[in-house]
Amino acid sequence: MESDKRARVEAWLRYGADLELGPYCRDRIPANVVVETSQAVGAQLTEQPQAPIAAAARAASASSSFGLSTTAPAATATARSSAAAPFAQAPSLFEASDRIAGDTFQLIRETIGDCTRCKLHKARTNIVFGVGSMKAELVFVGEGPGHDEDIKGEPFVGRAGKLLTQMIEAMGLRREDVYICNVVKCRPPENRLPEKDEINTCSPFLFRQIDVIRPKVICCLGSCASQTLLQTTQGISRFRGEWFEFRGSKLIATYHPAYLLRNPNAKGEVWKDLQKVMTVLGLQPKRK
Ligand code: URA
Repeated sequence: MESDKRARVEAWLRYGADLELGPYCRDRIPANVVVETSQAVGAQLTEQPQAPIAAAARAASASSSFGLSTTAPAATATARSSAAAPFAQAPSLFEASDRIAGDTFQLIRETIGDCTRCKLHKARTNIVFGVGSMKAELVFVGEGPGHDEDIKGEPFVGRAGKLLTQMIEAMGLRREDVYICNVVKCRPPENRLPEKDEINTCSPFLFRQIDVIRPKVICCLGSCASQTLLQTTQGISRFRGEWFEFRGSKLIATYHPAYLLRNPNAKGEVWKDLQKVMTVLGLQPKRK
């Protein structure tokens, strides 16, 4: 399409989006609706809560570096993971036009600057940009920095972070092989949830980071990250472990490591989700 026509179409689409019309593209996930990719989730859409009991029992009896049995992913990644296949791999017209040509981490960091765009700047010590490899095939997205992260300027370095590191290592990777970041880059006071305006202000920088990395897989940790990226208000237990598409990457949501610290019985569910990621990335679990 000629560039002036394309610009006009994009402007109209953006105008429509501002009015919350659409979606215009089949690969977009409308607000508040999660597009499920398997029969199992079809069942979830009919308001069936997941039953974690069997998995919890397995997790309780399992053992590994993060409290789980590290069986080969192929053993547990069955038909449901093949539900990833119907993804639209190309970004939607919006996403393609959203991408900033020639963008880099340096540019993104410079644009953020000494940010005062939202109220989170008032109490922060450091802007927590993200850590890891810019060539990572796997990106983990958390919620926002906590106390330790705010002090150190690095995501996931506190207790939940140590568990995340163990999870990454159980997958046969090192922390430096992946990229780790958050929906918001400044610590919410008292570790409260980031608020909508804060997420709306900060998440475009996360999306730019993801566009620069172009990972094969994005793993959302917890509700905040998954609801933000999938534009849904559904609870994470309704869609965790299922595959979605986000800006050309495969996206899977799992429980946040902080949740696992409070609910170790959920580790079995998380390990199943991570095994699906491992299958897509062709990874073998770490040998004990
Ligand atoms: N929890 C998060 O979501 N992110 C961090 O960086 C640390 C804890």
